[in-house]
Amino acid sequence: MRILFVASECAPFAKTGGLGDVVGALPKWLARRGHDVRIVMPLYGYLPTLRWDDFERLDGVLTVPMGGGAQRAAVRLGELPRGGAASNAAPPVRVYFLEHRRWFDRPHLYGSPTEAYGDNLERFSFLSRGALSLCSALNWTPDVVHAHDWQAALAPVYLNTVEWGRPLHGAASLLTIHNLAYQGEFDPRELWRTGLGNEHLHAKGLEHFGALNLLKGGLWHATFLSTVSPTYSREIQSSEHGCGLDGVLRERAADLRGILNGIDGDEWDPARDPLISAPYSRDDLDGKTACKMALQREAGLPVRATTPLVAWVGRFAYQKGIDVVAHALMGLVHEEAQFVLLGTGDPKAERWLADLAARYPQKVRLFAGFDHKLAHRIEAGADFFLMPSRFEPCGLNQMYSQRYGTLPIVRATGGLADTVRNYDESSGRGTGFMLLELSPDALYHTVRWALATWWQRRPHIDAMRREAMSLDWSWDRFAGDYELLYRQAWERRRGQPWRG
Ligand code: ADP
Repeated sequence: MRILFVASECAPFAKTGGLGDVVGALPKWLARRGHDVRIVMPLYGYLPTLRWDDFERLDGVLTVPMGGGAQRAAVRLGELPRGGAASNAAPPVRVYFLEHRRWFDRPHLYGSPTEAYGDNLERFSFLSRGALSLCSALNWTPDVVHAHDWQAALAPVYLNTVEWGRPLHGAASLLTIHNLAYQGEFDPRELWRTGLGNEHLHAKGLEHFGALNLLKGGLWHATFLSTVSPTYSREIQSSEHGCGLDGVLRERAADLRGILNGIDGDEWDPARDPLISAPYSRDDLDGKTACKMALQREAGLPVRATTPLVAWVGRFAYQKGIDVVAHALMGLVHEEAQFVLLGTGDPKAERWLADLAARYPQKVRLFAGFDHKLAHRIEAGADFFLMPSRFEPCGLNQMYSQRYGTLPIVRATGGLADTVRNYDESSGRGTGFMLLELSPDALYHTVRWALATWWQRRPHIDAMRREAMSLDWSWDRFAGDYELLYRQAWERRRGQPWRG
């Protein structure tokens, strides 16, 4: 199949979260299965991971019709890095970068940490429309357009409207929701900028309680919808997790699927991870103890293999339950345990955790910042991993943790519920510890449950580690689900069986 990915992020070039990981990985696995997959994304400025000169500048100029008149962009061509399991004899995945300096040559992807760019509506309408214009210019008609999140949500809308009667109109579309909390909401008076008319401003189109909502438009227009875990796909149909769009999602429930994200098994493998102190595997865990002692030394904590070490790596965000962690820690610092946290985000949470670490230097260490390599050392060195998210579309860290034999302590929500098996004291089986309700008390007791298991039922911990490390989170498992969905989408769009 010819599959076009339209996305605002793609690892390793530009990434702020799980979206970038998926767009940078899934196409490689699809290519390996024989599909012609191409990615279109903006050419951002100022990113050390996105060096403009590494990419070939294509001849000519791309003209993209927009509300205020045609916009012109240069196009650069790169490809996803090869190497690792996905690339065995796989054809390259082309990445087309839209070079529009006024809109993308800026220090951030979406805006500063405190304020989104005021022209994001135009910036990302341009991405969606530009991706389709590029297909026409290349004379390459995709069978399926796979759009990601609100930034690309207009692509299915354009396919159904401005492309009417043209070859691209025959392309099916899939819109994947990586996080429903971000919807791309704008002033409805600005709709003209997208090149779409006011006839689209209604409740079954782009209008949502008086606002212009790009994600909502995509949800109505895409042939199929997906999100990144089966549980999240059900949760977002409820008013509790639907972020106001649950009504649309319920109406489209028959066309909505939940497919888990895979992880990059080449990067995250304790048996051959160059970033950790000692390699280890399910059958030989000695190296894990060495990693733990190295982490304790690095964190300035007492170096003791017997003391359980509980870790956090992630954004200090309300979504992730950092407020609840902060409260629970006040009680947990009195346990015989150590806590290592790596993250950035909410400045209040950061200050609070820094204070706590200063008061209990033998128990708590805070690393404030974003440090990819340290994240590996923490996954390898910790015994338990905290992830009590309020909601979690998929989550990656709990999968990395299980692969590293670090038992996750999670709230039973979204992808966490789908990927962690709760400890069963009677059989000793499970891959982590779960809490149902999110409160400081519930978290405190669940962490204490994990610590009690460590002290009193150590063989259970060892068995859980082996079980967790045996799980398969490779993209190989999930790429086939997308393939099936693309085919179904194409058949729905064309009203005929797939010709492949
Ligand atoms: P989200 O996308 O909601 O932030 P995920 O668990 O899906 O959460 O993915 C987060 C990714 O970012 C993981 O790969 C995680 O290791 C990484 N990460 C988050 N915060 C940090 C940090 N402070 N330092 C290093 N890596 C981080």
